Amino acid sequence: MADRTAKEIEVGFIVDKPGGAKGYRTGDWRSMKPSYDKERCIKCGVCYMFCPDAAIGFDSEGFIQIDEFYCKGCGICSKECVTGAFKMVPLGSEDKAKKK
Ligand code: SF4
Ligand code: SF4
Repeated sequence: MADRTAKEIEVGFIVDKPGGAKGYRTGDWRSMKPSYDKERCIKCGVCYMFCPDAAIGFDSEGFIQIDEFYCKGCGICSKECVTGAFKMVPLGSEDKAKKK
């Protein structure tokens, strides 16, 4: 198929299988991940509201749980967290990076 410029591509598209994005493992292509410090978390839920991949949930005590399958390491949770409970770290590094 010949390359087309942005102006030549039709506007809009059809999603023929609603919910199909559930199968995309966006966590596979990240290079950073949020490290969570439970001791700083006040359970406000701000990170939950801002996460674009719905990768943030809560455990039975209201603390944060991150779904590694979907977390793409964008860092929005870290930017929006009001207490600094999240710190972005390179993938594979220490999971809990406490701040001084
Ligand atoms: S890094 Fe991005 S995708 Fe991952 S939990 Fe934070 S806001 Fe969600
Ligand atoms: S934004 Fe920060 S303090 Fe609020 S629930 Fe998320 S991690 Fe906890």
